Amino acid sequence: MASQRQQQSEGKNKRVVVIGGGVAGSLVAKSLQFSADVTLIDPKEYFEITWASLRAMVEPSFGKRSVINHTDYLVNGRIVASPAINITENEVLTAEGRRVVYDYLVIATGHKDPVPKTRTERLNQYQAENQKIKSARSILIVGGGPTGVELAGEIAVDFPEKKVTLVHKGSRLLEFIGPKAGDKTLDWLISKKVDVKLGQRVNLDSVSEGSDTYLTSTGDTIKADCHFLCTGKPVGSDWLKDTILKDSLDTDGMLMVDENLRVKGQKNIFAIGDITDIREIKQGFLAQKHAQVAAKNLKVLMVGERESKMATYRPHSAIAIVSLGRKDAVAQLPFMTTIGCVPGLIKSRDLFVGKTRKQMGLEPDVAHA
Ligand SMILES: Cc1cc2nc3c(=O)[nH]c(=O)nc-3n(C[C@H](O)[C@H](O)[C@H](O)COP(=O)(O)OP(=O)(O)OC[C@H]3O[C@@H](n4cnc5c(N)ncnc54)[C@H](O)[C@@H]3O)c2cc1C
Repeated sequence: MASQRQQQSEGKNKRVVVIGGGVAGSLVAKSLQFSADVTLIDPKEYFEITWASLRAMVEPSFGKRSVINHTDYLVNGRIVASPAINITENEVLTAEGRRVVYDYLVIATGHKDPVPKTRTERLNQYQAENQKIKSARSILIVGGGPTGVELAGEIAVDFPEKKVTLVHKGSRLLEFIGPKAGDKTLDWLISKKVDVKLGQRVNLDSVSEGSDTYLTSTGDTIKADCHFLCTGKPVGSDWLKDTILKDSLDTDGMLMVDENLRVKGQKNIFAIGDITDIREIKQGFLAQKHAQVAAKNLKVLMVGERESKMATYRPHSAIAIVSLGRKDAVAQLPFMTTIGCVPGLIKSRDLFVGKTRKQMGLEPDVAHA
């Protein structure tokens, strides 16, 4: 029988390819880098702590800690900075024409978000967005989900003199969680003088270049010097539709996984994060938990242990904290929904950036040059 040491060293020869360098993919790649031969495929050269992105718009230097080059945490793995466009039973094909062979595959392509390729370009984008906010007297935010609400909160707190209007097509804010959270958030935004319009859509097609007039579906006119689109992003699974996994996508384009987070019917392909069909709200902290389970299970399989030793993943209940500027937040917990500085203490000052950096093996407070 092979010794444990022998098994571990065989595991190190296994080729693990991770597709998607977001919250889940980066963590699984980082976790496996000394146990396998890891390649991370991502269109961009960096990992971004997404929930810090709205703060980086009002304070661009915040992005220096939340936008992290893959090379900073993946010190013992390869990075291919190109989107994956196809997969076969043993290879991944990228847009730039590379073929990357795998023994095990992890798919973590989350949501589609067209962002620049390099960290420098991304940080420059934050500078430009900050300039856009600073030079506007009135700002329109389209979308009242977590992104629109958090952006409204950041602007209302840091730039109280600006006129902020938030338009949301639904009948309440934060529809991904319960109505109490939405109602409390509405009151908070109103107290900060944000003009919230529910049950309306902004007709962005009718806005001509240089115009400051926006029309909504109910015929309202909104004057704003600029706007930010904060509507939901599509699932990042289009590219899988003509691959060997086409039948593993459900009708919403999510990848169907089993309790070990393997794609249903596949022995060596895992899927984690927002792209999975797990019945829970799509959140970064859950994507991190998926990554931990998948890393553990890959280690089990790579050293040839019994499949029964794999960990199982159980969906989580709908816990969420949405920040409202630098001090406040609204939190939905299992038995209550609360708003103000208490949930704010948990999230809003650092937005878990230090904690996430630490999890990635980086110094929590030191930004990359
Ligand atoms: C503004 C904002 C605020 C948020 N706030 C919070 C919060 O406070 N708390 C919380 O828990 N969650 C929050 N979330 C949700 C959280 O960010 C997501 O749940 C999390 O990012 C999901 O991780 P993921 O790895 O599955 O996908 P993502 O992080 O979306 O990563 C997907 C990755 O796949 C890559 N990719 C896409 N297509 C391809 C391809 N064809 N080939 C290779 N790579 C590809 C992308 O470049 C990206 O790197 C927020 C999200 C946003 C957008």
